[in-house]
Amino acid sequence: EPESVWNLDKINAIEISVENAYVHNLKNISVKIPKNKITVFTGVSGSGKSSLAFDTIYHESQKQFMDLVSSDFSMDINESKVKKITGLQPAIAIEQKNLGRNPRSTVGSVTKTGNLLKLLYATIGERTCPQCYELVSENNVCGQCGSIYFDLTQAVFSYNDPDHMCPTCKGLGEELQIDVERIVSNPNKSILDGASVWWGNLRKHRENPNANWMRGEVLALADDMKENLEVPFKELTENFKKQLFYGTNGREVSLSYVNSNGRKGIITRPVEGVVNTMNRLLRNNNADKSIANLEQYIVKKKCSHCNGERLKKDGRLVKIGLTRYPEAANMNISKLKNWCHQIYNTLSTEKKDKSKIIFMKTLYQLKKMEQVGLNYLSLNRSVPSLSGGEAQRLKIATQFGSDLTNILYIMDEPSKGLHPRDYQFLIEVIQDLKKLNNTVIMVEHKKAFIDMADYLVEVGPRAGKYGGEILRAEEVPDKKGSNTDIFHFRPTKDEMISRNRILALKGVTTNNLKNIDIRIPLSKLTCVIGVSGSGKSSLVSKTIYPAILKNLGKKSDVIREYKEICGVDNLKEVYYVNQNPIGKTPRSIPGTYSGVFDLIRDFYAKLEDAKKKRLTKEHFSFNSKKGQCSECKGAGQIAVPMHFMPDIYTTCKKCNGRRYDDKILEVTYKGYSISDLLEMEINEVKEVFRDEKKIFDMLDMFHRLGISYIKLGQSATTLSGGEAQRIKLAKQLGLGKTKDVLYILDEPTTGLDDENVKKLIYILKELTNNGATVIVIEHNPLLIQQADWIIEMGPDGGNLGGYVVNEGWLNNGTNKDIGH
Ligand code: ADP
Ligand code: ADP
Ligand code: ZN
Ligand code: ZN
Repeated sequence: EPESVWNLDKINAIEISVENAYVHNLKNISVKIPKNKITVFTGVSGSGKSSLAFDTIYHESQKQFMDLVSSDFSMDINESKVKKITGLQPAIAIEQKNLGRNPRSTVGSVTKTGNLLKLLYATIGERTCPQCYELVSENNVCGQCGSIYFDLTQAVFSYNDPDHMCPTCKGLGEELQIDVERIVSNPNKSILDGASVWWGNLRKHRENPNANWMRGEVLALADDMKENLEVPFKELTENFKKQLFYGTNGREVSLSYVNSNGRKGIITRPVEGVVNTMNRLLRNNNADKSIANLEQYIVKKKCSHCNGERLKKDGRLVKIGLTRYPEAANMNISKLKNWCHQIYNTLSTEKKDKSKIIFMKTLYQLKKMEQVGLNYLSLNRSVPSLSGGEAQRLKIATQFGSDLTNILYIMDEPSKGLHPRDYQFLIEVIQDLKKLNNTVIMVEHKKAFIDMADYLVEVGPRAGKYGGEILRAEEVPDKKGSNTDIFHFRPTKDEMISRNRILALKGVTTNNLKNIDIRIPLSKLTCVIGVSGSGKSSLVSKTIYPAILKNLGKKSDVIREYKEICGVDNLKEVYYVNQNPIGKTPRSIPGTYSGVFDLIRDFYAKLEDAKKKRLTKEHFSFNSKKGQCSECKGAGQIAVPMHFMPDIYTTCKKCNGRRYDDKILEVTYKGYSISDLLEMEINEVKEVFRDEKKIFDMLDMFHRLGISYIKLGQSATTLSGGEAQRIKLAKQLGLGKTKDVLYILDEPTTGLDDENVKKLIYILKELTNNGATVIVIEHNPLLIQQADWIIEMGPDGGNLGGYVVNEGWLNNGTNKDIGH
């Protein structure tokens, strides 16, 4: 009889026993994990922790589940690469991805707390008549105008329900609007010379006008109004600009033109105005296509009809006490919790009876969210706008409504994005899971979390093929000792700022930021720290980065709200490394992503043999028809689509996974074909190119970041989070650019053990020593201690944050080296 997670006898085993696991780099390892305990997996990044936790244990649990529910599906899940796992429980993976990108999913909907709030309003809410704004009586009649209403149902609060969503924004709370400032991206130029990409270079058009009215209307209007188009756009008269954007209101203007066969003509029409034209295109065309073209001119604004509240009037006007439903959904978790307590105390006995259970359940959920450090979120906050760490903690919180026991929870660095101050709350939540008779496995590096665990499994000794072994599996040793996670720093007075060149922003108000001024010394390492939700990303990723992009004349469609910026002229280039994955298909590999494969292809195309065979750089690309295997189109693998699950891949039979047509592989360098290189580890490839400086240097950056054990052609879908992030770093840092360059890194130590964190710090210090400016958002004390300048956001999350609580030099700004 097959081992099954749903077989009760087997569930009674006291441990989960893994025998001979061999997926990825795991070396046939066996390990026993106690049930109803918390086990932490540690070890250097890339050693195989996730392979054991997710690709072995979680995978097998999924497989046993699928085998049980339907024999039709059983073929769909790969066999687990393990001899046997016994004692397994049904497992829930809590990872940092996959809460979804649907703008309709909100904190309230994924935690189900939103439903509770709706139920509360449907049960004890008081309705206001949308016609005359009078209260509707208990017997459903408006005392003022006599309108009759049906019983209040929860549906009136559902913005996904076509009957109740705001008809203007269709329940999204946002409208797309054309932003005049974005149409004219360069107001210092004249409109003839390209002040706006919408019209492009009109000078050419004026010299040789054709019947294109979209461009022609500018010239015709200028003629009509005797406007001088030679001056910079910003100096044009207000009246002209107004008609250019919003039209002539029916007044006709004329354009003389010559068409291609030399015939002259004249068009006489009213001017529609660019904003009106764009709006018309937005409305008429197939929505997706036209929005893609117009995207650069669009900003999302609060829906003016429902004021961003997503609902029709009847739902928006229901009150408990003085609070309307959308107002409650908009409160942050802490505030909503207090409000629940307050309101409950004011209710009549009858209403108390009706709603007691709902209040209790709601408060329970809210408390859990507060415990995982998300007190600053509101129920209607959209899920796609949450960071990875926030999303994961929200998932942890949602597990509590579920009353499930005997579940195995598998978590991926739950501390991510969290300030050490908030560790304790999260730890309590995870311990509660254990109290409910569940088993927890988490991948973690933080000492506070290791100390909280009962059992510790260390995977190592190093990364990739040099890892994959169990170094220890034992009860967590001695839990006492100093907690290195709590860090102290004392920024010193900032008189030295005057001696440094700085970048400064004034009056920043993005998201929760409270009209703050900040300064960042150039050619230094700045750490932005602070509790979760305090405004670090709002400041760095959503203000500084787009502000600099804009200043460099580059496109950015992120928010940036500030009054003034100075010192930005010292920066000629900005690189941003965020946490998004680097690719979703086997075609994306470290080689192509970092750009080094491009150089290698160039090199191969210049080999004598390649020239003889008339092979070009293109032939050496597995993405080009010329050189790729005709069967798998260069992927080396064939995707097998799966119902309900991500695709799985099998090796291409024609090329045996080598990706190329045979004739390309006849060309070799030092005996290696281009496909051989893809199969090699980066440190091996590096040796092959010892004499090619540019290629060597780029590959060396992988080595210095501790990821040269990865294969040059390893598919991006198989990289661990820490690996993927460092590949991004290698790409940017490998360029070796430092002069007038700003690097912005968002939690670059995520997933890294201390050794690798030190490697990273060393590289960052080298960059600043060579003149680059580096800004990092960080929680890691090792990195923070090495910063030159600190900006601490706080004091709390959400509306209670958004202030600069500390700003200044650390170690007098003389942190030059860490003595590597
Ligand atoms: P950790 O979680 O300890 O950081 P992982 O288990 O993610 O490490 O990775 C262990 C090793 O296995 C790494 O070298 C990684 O690149 C490799 N690896 C992970 N997934 C795959 C895969 N699907 N195919 C091939 N190699 C993989
Ligand atoms: P941190 O990076 O310090 O964790 P954030 O800058 O992400 O903090 O968030 C600061 C505040 O702004 C929080 O209250 C957060 O909920 C809010 N916020 C962040 N992004 C958005 C967004 N896209 N829409 C609405 N509110 C946001
Ligand atoms: Zn609306
Ligand atoms: Zn093939």
